Amino acid sequence: MHFDSLCAREPKDPRTTKPHILPIYASSAYAFESAEEGMEIFTGKKSGHVYSRYGNPTIEAVASKIAALESAGTGVEAAGLLLSSGQAAVATLVMGNLKAGDKILTQGNLYGGTTELFIKQFGALGIETILTDLHELDRVEEMVKADENIRLIYFETPANPTLACVDIAALAGIAGQYGRLSAIDNTFATPCLQQPLALGVDYVVHSTTKFLNGHGNSIAGALVSRHTEQMKMGGAVWQSMKLAGTNCNPWDAWLINNGLKTLALRMERHSSNAMEIAHFLETHPAVERVNYCGLPSHPDHAIAKRQMKAFGAMLSFELKGGVEAGVKFMNGLKMCTMAPTLGDVDTLVLHPASSSHLNIPKEVRLANGITDGLVRISVGIEHAADIIADLTAALEAC
Ligand SMILES: *Cc1c(COP(=O)(O)O)cnc(C)c1O
Repeated sequence: MHFDSLCAREPKDPRTTKPHILPIYASSAYAFESAEEGMEIFTGKKSGHVYSRYGNPTIEAVASKIAALESAGTGVEAAGLLLSSGQAAVATLVMGNLKAGDKILTQGNLYGGTTELFIKQFGALGIETILTDLHELDRVEEMVKADENIRLIYFETPANPTLACVDIAALAGIAGQYGRLSAIDNTFATPCLQQPLALGVDYVVHSTTKFLNGHGNSIAGALVSRHTEQMKMGGAVWQSMKLAGTNCNPWDAWLINNGLKTLALRMERHSSNAMEIAHFLETHPAVERVNYCGLPSHPDHAIAKRQMKAFGAMLSFELKGGVEAGVKFMNGLKMCTMAPTLGDVDTLVLHPASSSHLNIPKEVRLANGITDGLVRISVGIEHAADIIADLTAALEAC
């Protein structure tokens, strides 16, 4: 089956007499037919459900579907878990694989919450995070070779705010060569545009809150891995989910299930719209620079082209007029929504300097590439002409 068909189909229903659409199994626990059956399920001799923090049919059906999408056509066998948020997915990955004294090697431009989670929470528990430029592969290899305690290379590509991309196969290759783990946040690309398992990555993380759900109505995360034994009942990652209670809930899983059916269609439209808008912005006199990894002018275009089927919805651009122009631009928008999220079907626009980064010292903001006139767009699936008309009017205002 093709990726698009896999997206559109209902996941395998765990029941023998099946409703057409996956039900929400709103049940905290599961009854046993007999004491013997209970014993067999508890000891893993028979598959079955016990308690919904350990596993739930709705959640498992959707987790398996995401694992199937990440591995579709790759020949890699993978298993998935659905967690309460993207952050919970990252936390479960680290708790299930690392211990005090271990180190994470990563990039400085991760999703802000991930950087904070690594440095503040895991730092306090004795897991150190080293930030470096993951474009510099020779240096990454030297660092890994020199320090046995680096157990995980963690990356995000494309990444905020400049849509910087790193070489997935090369980083996974270094991790594998020295017996370390690699993990990627695949939220921006989704498995529709980029399948990191095929490039050798061990773990794939998602904030399903964004494109996988696509409709902005739930917070959840996913973790997919080729190390299926770690992910199944009794495995180390599964156990971290069970004991820390980072599991998703059946209602949010059900919403993701609805969203996944149109993922292939949405990503195709997101990508073609974003390309059109990137070209439009690139020639606009009020715009200094456009960051879209699909443009040949982007410094990582060659990497993106090698590992992505299309370039997705996310782009950013720099207004010549700085903070003041940013505020005027935002107020000039009529159709596009001002919101600090991404991945929904409608176009979402953010001017970090006057919103999400207002309370962050200017030097820190600039060091992270969030310049005064930077505007981020999560391009939606509306008609491209309507988005361009709205942007045109707003650009005239600044
Ligand atoms: C939103 C986001 C996260 C965090 O996900 P939550 O679902 O909000 O916990 C992680 N990585 C990326 C790239 C994101 O956009």
